[in-house]
Amino acid sequence: MKILVTGGAGFIGSALIRYIIENTDNDILNIDKLTYAGNLSSLDSVSGNSRYNFDQIDITNRVALKAIFKSYEPQIVIHLAAESHVDRSIDAPEDFIQTNIVGTYNLLEESRKLWSSLPSEEQNLFRFHHVSTDEVYGDLGLTGELFTEQTRYDPSSPYSASKAASDHLVRSWCKTYKLPTLVSNCSNNYGPYQFPEKLVPLVIQNALAGHDLPIYGNGDQIRDWLYVEDHARALYLVATTGRIGETYNIGGHNEKKNLEVVTKICQILDSLVPSNHGSYVDQITHVEDRPGHDMRYAIDASKIADELGWVPSETFDSGLKKTISWYINNQEWCKKNDN
Ligand code: NAD
Repeated sequence: MKILVTGGAGFIGSALIRYIIENTDNDILNIDKLTYAGNLSSLDSVSGNSRYNFDQIDITNRVALKAIFKSYEPQIVIHLAAESHVDRSIDAPEDFIQTNIVGTYNLLEESRKLWSSLPSEEQNLFRFHHVSTDEVYGDLGLTGELFTEQTRYDPSSPYSASKAASDHLVRSWCKTYKLPTLVSNCSNNYGPYQFPEKLVPLVIQNALAGHDLPIYGNGDQIRDWLYVEDHARALYLVATTGRIGETYNIGGHNEKKNLEVVTKICQILDSLVPSNHGSYVDQITHVEDRPGHDMRYAIDASKIADELGWVPSETFDSGLKKTISWYINNQEWCKKNDN
């Protein structure tokens, strides 16, 4: 199959491409604008493979997208390209509206044009898989509830609102035009090759550099954490075997308070690279909370387990140890991606 991946130079997109090239015989065209968050060196292990190609494309550029769809004629589109950092969305929302909403609209329209022109047996195989986040569901507060695929959307930040808007566009293109779409909503990812503005790599890098480890508010915010390679495996499964028109929630069964996550990272670092100045925990500081900061996200991932047989293979402990070891051993990559 020919798979068009958008945002493949980012954290999750590059994990997905490494997974597909290493475990299947599909061809991939990766289109990515290469913003600050995109880095082609995350794809060094597969970039020499003849089944992998890259084109530097901005998904808000409809003319460029049109040419790509015409020349490549993908059979599956897996759409990850997005502006993805909540803090940046609060400071400067414009790019989030353009990339996450207008970019998704452009991809839907080009997919629809291609799909409409196909003979029916090829139409039946075509898929558009939109990769989204659990943040669209908003805040669970301190209830025991979990997000299911039926949970009402209630986004809190410009980031999550722009993702919610794009999810609605995708579903409506399926209902109105019968474009075969799928949506997946996943919890917080962590793992190798994540740009060090996000919590886990930021804490690792700051700890190793002897800097403060800033935590928003009291650090009681709860998130569910999933190892990125488990997410990549789930995405491929949804795109290739998921039911058309459906949504799949993806999560790690790992609800943790932010303070717990940071403390755990410090403890693993204490054992792997002990500091002369005592425990890394001593570097933790509390800073003013982010506006609109949701208290708790938690995912019910039973649908994808029951229907597609997916469950995460890493525990939080095993995934975090792998992640921390990767950052310690890949400081060259980190220097190229200095926040
Ligand atoms: P990322 O920020 O690491 O990567 C995004 C990629 O998209 C980058 O390579 C960037 O260059 C590219 N991009 C941005 N604007 C573009 C544009 N206009 N045209 C083409 N490419 C563009 O993000 P990520 O963490 O890998 O997230 C990927 C997707 O998964 C996003 O849609 C995000 O909403 C979703 N998601 C992320 C998480 C998480 O924890 N990181 C969790 C759930 C869902």
